[in-house]
Amino acid sequence: MLLYGRIDTMTETGLAEAVYLEGDRIADVGSREDLSARYPRIKKQVIEQITPGLHEAHAHPQLWGQQLDSLDFEGLTEPQAVAQKVAQKARTLPPGSWIRGGGYLFRAYPSSEMLDEVAPHHPVFLQSRDRHSSWANRKAMELSSIGAHTPDPPGGVLVRNGAGEPTGYLLEHAQELIYAMVPKPGLVELERGLQDLSRRGYTAVHHMGWCHFSLAEQLAHSGQLPVRLWWALDRDHWRETRPGWRGDSLEVAAVKFFADGALGSRTAWMIEPYPDGSQGIVLDPLELIESEGRAVLQAGFGMVVHAIGTRAVQGLLEVFHQLQPLSRRIFRIEHAQHVRDQELPRFAGLNLAISMQPMHLLGDADLVRLHLKGYEKEAFRLRDLWNTGLPLAFGSDAPVMKPLFEQNLQAAIRHPFNPRQNLTPEEVLWAHTRGAALAAGWPQHGLIRPEAPADLTLWENQHPVGRVFKGEIELY
Ligand SMILES: [Zn+2]
Repeated sequence: MLLYGRIDTMTETGLAEAVYLEGDRIADVGSREDLSARYPRIKKQVIEQITPGLHEAHAHPQLWGQQLDSLDFEGLTEPQAVAQKVAQKARTLPPGSWIRGGGYLFRAYPSSEMLDEVAPHHPVFLQSRDRHSSWANRKAMELSSIGAHTPDPPGGVLVRNGAGEPTGYLLEHAQELIYAMVPKPGLVELERGLQDLSRRGYTAVHHMGWCHFSLAEQLAHSGQLPVRLWWALDRDHWRETRPGWRGDSLEVAAVKFFADGALGSRTAWMIEPYPDGSQGIVLDPLELIESEGRAVLQAGFGMVVHAIGTRAVQGLLEVFHQLQPLSRRIFRIEHAQHVRDQELPRFAGLNLAISMQPMHLLGDADLVRLHLKGYEKEAFRLRDLWNTGLPLAFGSDAPVMKPLFEQNLQAAIRHPFNPRQNLTPEEVLWAHTRGAALAAGWPQHGLIRPEAPADLTLWENQHPVGRVFKGEIELY
C-alpha cells in the first residue's frame, strides 16, 4: 500500500510525501514522484497528514473499559449533583446491584447520608477523578463490614465523624475495603477499553497496572489485541511472571511502584505542606522502592514509579541514581507533576523517561492554586523537563481523564498558569509517538522509516481519523 500525505517522519528526514508499506513493515519513504515511479501498480490512498502511530503512554485500559459502562461525573464538584445522577441510576437497577461511577472532584469530603437517601437499597461506590479517594453509601459499607471498630488500613484513611464512625469517605488504600466487594472487571472490560483506544487512533498503549496480566496474555494468544500493549505489572504480584514479549503485540516490561498519592485528594507527598498543614501520604516507602526495585531489575524488568509531589520526586530521583548500575531498561517516572528547581539537575545522568499527562492541567489548574499557593511554578514543568534532554512520553491516565490527544495538545501548548512551560505542537506529537516509544524501550517504533513497524496514525484537521496497524488501514 502506498500512502500520500504530509508525513511527519520523526527522523532527520523531517517531512516526506509518500510512504510505502509492505506487510506489517514500512518499506520506503520519500517524495510522491519517486515512490509513484518505484511502485506504479500499487494501490494508493491520500491522507492529509500521517504520523508514526500514537502511543497512549499511561493508561488503565481495563478500568477505562469499565468506566465506559459506568456513571460519569466529569466536571461535577457538588455532591448534590452526583447524588442526583445516582438517584436516576438506582431507578433503573434491581435492588442489591452495585452502582459505580467516578470523575467528580469535591472541595470537602461528603458523608454517606446523601447517597443513603437516593439509593438505600443499592450499594454505591464512587471514585474521585484522580481515583485516590472514594465516596460510598451505608449499604456498601455494611457489605464491606466497615464500622467504628474498623482500623485505618496501612496507607489509607477512613474519614470519621466526632464519634469515630466512618462517614462513607475513604482515602487511598482504605478504598480497597469496599473495592474488594465490588464485582471485578474482567476480559470484557479490558477488551472494550483497548478497542476504544484503537478507535481514537492509538496504535500502542502503555498499561500502568490494576489488571491481571493473564487477561492480556489471553488476548495476545488469541490474536485479539487491537494495539501493541506495553505492560507494567503491579508490585505485589510480579514474581510469578517472566519479562518479555508474548507474540508481537504484548510485552511485559516493567513493575509499577507508587511513591505517593495525588494532588486532588491532597495525598501527593510534598516538601512544603498544604494549607491545612498536611504533607500527603507515602504509599511505597522509598526504602522499599529501592530494595524491591533491586529485585525487579535483577529479574530483567524495568521500573515504573508514580511520583507526583515534590518530596516523592526528590526521593525517587535519588533511588534511581542508586539503582541505575543494575538497570538494563530505561526507568520511568510517572506524572512528575511538582518539581522544585533544586531537583531539575538531578534528572541529568539518569537513563530515565518522564511520563506526563499535560491534560491534567485543564482540571488541576484550580487545584494547584488552591492547594499549592505560591508554588505554582513547580507544577507541570513541561519545558523545564523537556530541557533535561530525557524523553517525555504523554498519555491521559485514562480513566482519570479521557484519552484525547487534543487535550494534551491544548494544555501543553497553552499552559494555564505558566506560559514559560509551553511546548510546541511538534514537541507534543513527538512525546506521543517517538518519545513514548523510547519510554517503552522500543527503539524501532515511533519513526517513519524503512524497516519500522507499519503503525501509523492518520489525521485530518489535526484530529485522528484513522490509523494503520500492522500494515492494515482503518478509517473511522
Ligand atoms: Zn495511572
